[in-house]
Amino acid sequence: MKNEIILIINSGSSSIKYSTYHCQSSLEVIHQGEIEVTGDPALALEKLLNNLEHSIESFSLKAVGHRVVHGGRDFFTPVKVTETVFKQLSKLIPLAPYHQKDNLLAIEIIAKRYPLMLQVACFDTAFHHTQPRLATLFALPRKLTDEGIMRYGFHGLSYEYIASVLPQHIGSVADKKVIVAHLGGGASMCAMSAGKSMATSMGLTALDGLIMGKRCGSIDPGVLLYLLEEKKKTVTEVSDILYKQSGLLGVSNISDDVRVLQTSTDPHAKEALDLFCYRAAQELGALAFVLKGCDAIIFTAGIGENSAWIREKICNYAAWLGLSLDSDANKNNAGIISPPESKILVGVIPTNEALMIARHTYNLQMIEK
Ligand code: ADP
Repeated sequence: MKNEIILIINSGSSSIKYSTYHCQSSLEVIHQGEIEVTGDPALALEKLLNNLEHSIESFSLKAVGHRVVHGGRDFFTPVKVTETVFKQLSKLIPLAPYHQKDNLLAIEIIAKRYPLMLQVACFDTAFHHTQPRLATLFALPRKLTDEGIMRYGFHGLSYEYIASVLPQHIGSVADKKVIVAHLGGGASMCAMSAGKSMATSMGLTALDGLIMGKRCGSIDPGVLLYLLEEKKKTVTEVSDILYKQSGLLGVSNISDDVRVLQTSTDPHAKEALDLFCYRAAQELGALAFVLKGCDAIIFTAGIGENSAWIREKICNYAAWLGLSLDSDANKNNAGIISPPESKILVGVIPTNEALMIARHTYNLQMIEK
């Protein structure tokens, strides 16, 4: 009998991350990789599938799980993608213009190639469904809120994974007030109480909150009006500025990559990193207040897992709360980087969004059997 596997796809505009797992409850990973998308994303996906078919000849594909950025108001658990579901998800493209379209393209291509394949959509917004209503509201006219213009939050698959492994890493503190900082190309924070999302820094779209590699994060909305009205920018130009030319890249005018900025001697690189940490500290403070306390801070994703400098800089802002760091542990990216006397435990936990999607896909596949 052929080995049964599931394929996980995280399809973005500049790269496609993929992994395959044995279709068993232990979910051992078989392959994982990432391909850059330079031309037509559809062709890149077709090529990826050809390569996979070639390398997994003795396996049979049971299901495909996808990261889908936006689930809107209707989707807050992983779902089997049907034609109706696909149409509903397509309507959310304007809310995540640089992500949702690519996520759905992967689903479409796989449906054409394997028409009977079970495809599962797992949403980045879903984990934040537990936020209390106040955390989800903009102070906009009620009619707009009723239409769904609300704070949904993202990086939910990463937060869900971290919540699932927290007890292994920090024991019973996992049941208390924990702020998780997902600092990668995109960056956000999530305030958790007993492993549930209570508030998060991203809103309707993945632009809000922290400074990111290329995205501006929270901004005075008047800036957008100014750019449109006074600087006569088009909507597309403004969107491009906010999503692709701002953040670490915009402030430094050098790179969106923390590794590059950390080694640069240009003062603009230092200013970009300082601003990143300053704004992260502001968000940390805001989340600690709505949680009415903070027992642990967990850093994750590319920057959070690897940059001791950024972690230290952010944590310094909380020294007045009795937070201290063990600098050797921090330099070594250790699991716990605070000494026992620190009033707030600080940890570093590698995220694994693909495994979270694999778990959901496996579970749905068992139900569908
Ligand atoms: P994505 O959101 O694209 O999945 P990642 O979580 O992989 O992003 O994070 C990518 C970012 O992590 C890079 O742009 C870089 O700034 C940062 N990063 C990766 N490795 C390191 C490192 N060793 N030191 C500092 N920053 C790093």
